[in-house]
Amino acid sequence: MAEPRTTLIRGQWVVAFDGTDHRIISPGVVVYRGDRIIHVGRDWDGQADEVIDRPYRLVIPGLISTHAHLRLNEGYRMVIDGGRRDFMRSGFTNYAGRKLAGGPSFQAPGEPDVAVRFCLTTHLLSGVTTVLEMDNGAPDKGETVAALAGQSGIRIYYSPSFTAADFRYAEDGRFLVEWDEAGGMAGLEAACDFVARHDGAHEGRLRGILVLNEFYTSTPALRHATRQAATRLGLRITTHFCEQLFEFHETVRRTSRTPAQLLADEGFLGPDVVLGHALYVAGHSLTAWPWPGDLELIAESGASVSHSPVAYARRGLAFESIPRFLRAGINLALGTDANPSDIISEMRMGAIVGKLVERDPEAPAARDLFRAATLGGAAALGRDDLGRLAPGAKADIVVVDFDNATIGPVIDPIRSLVYFGTGDMVERTVVDGRTVMADRQVLAWNQRAVLAEARRVAGKVWAGFKDFHWAGRTVDQEFPPSFDSWNGA
Ligand SMILES: [Zn+2]
Repeated sequence: MAEPRTTLIRGQWVVAFDGTDHRIISPGVVVYRGDRIIHVGRDWDGQADEVIDRPYRLVIPGLISTHAHLRLNEGYRMVIDGGRRDFMRSGFTNYAGRKLAGGPSFQAPGEPDVAVRFCLTTHLLSGVTTVLEMDNGAPDKGETVAALAGQSGIRIYYSPSFTAADFRYAEDGRFLVEWDEAGGMAGLEAACDFVARHDGAHEGRLRGILVLNEFYTSTPALRHATRQAATRLGLRITTHFCEQLFEFHETVRRTSRTPAQLLADEGFLGPDVVLGHALYVAGHSLTAWPWPGDLELIAESGASVSHSPVAYARRGLAFESIPRFLRAGINLALGTDANPSDIISEMRMGAIVGKLVERDPEAPAARDLFRAATLGGAAALGRDDLGRLAPGAKADIVVVDFDNATIGPVIDPIRSLVYFGTGDMVERTVVDGRTVMADRQVLAWNQRAVLAEARRVAGKVWAGFKDFHWAGRTVDQEFPPSFDSWNGA
């Protein structure tokens, strides 16, 4: 076997890890051999097979998205600026229902391979090296996701999500929940089978995790079975948790407990659980419930929270709040959720909305969001070799081009990245010591073709929306365009 190659990346700023927290070395180098980092420092006197050295580059750990839907997310693209008021700002309820019980959803005409290839591409373009995928892997039980993740070179935590209920629209538009616990149990079993087949695939870059689709559409028995399976198999669990207002209130009305109290009482929570969103916990201004309780329970359990600020802010919603969760001692991670798959934008939105909520210009700070996208994500996945640039860590490395007028003069590279940066400035993404994106092109696929296919498929899905709408309305009727179409010549 050939000796692994040694690569040195030089940066004007290198975000190194000192064993406790990030540190800035300026200028600095990071050196990796094979899939591992072997040196981080001001310089290196060893021999490198390759040297990557361009001016004004920021070198950071590979970013971690702990909540993503690797799809075109056609529905989410429709509801921005709109949606039914009776859903109380929820987004996906506007398009997730099925017209007929057990019938197809409006995304049915989509082509999963096109969607997954597109979304993996956009993640690598914004410097995401590890992604936790939330979708159900239809129609082939996650095989497409597994194969394309392998081709892309990304690190992925995944198994097809499962649920004990599905949504449907009645003929008058009412939103119905149709329960199928046995279907959920079968889904859990299928997820365990997927993990048995794929855990450790692609040189260890694919790792299993159990994805209980939603707390809201799960039952005590399915949660119990999920908890048991995770403990037995040594897997982590994630779930959409309290992302809808009615989820909080219905749980309280039914059980006299908040969702967090219920999960704690059931023994579901633990350090191996990643709660996606956790928006409506006790104390959130829309819950009408006092603060004490929920954050303490989540913190005590050691569960992590994955926050996706962009999708919520666009629906007029805020997490309340990053400083409050951090002060409670909860590990916070970041997710790219729907679109755009730009985790740098998530950092910016998280910092700005967090300050608005707190009425405090000092907290959360840019470093809090940067930590969430690196060390926080790694902790959520139970990894001490990700989210950091340090000898022995995985060579998951991102180079950001700061040689541009939008960034301008830099006094603090983390604040520049969070407040002025975008995913478009990521120039190179390295996963497991392999360059998977360089000079804004993913190496696995023809990026122009990936985008063209994505446009074709999304257009087809939107054109079919009326066939799935309870009253046969088109996308434009249901979600009026920003401006009317031009009627003249
Ligand atoms: Zn989600």
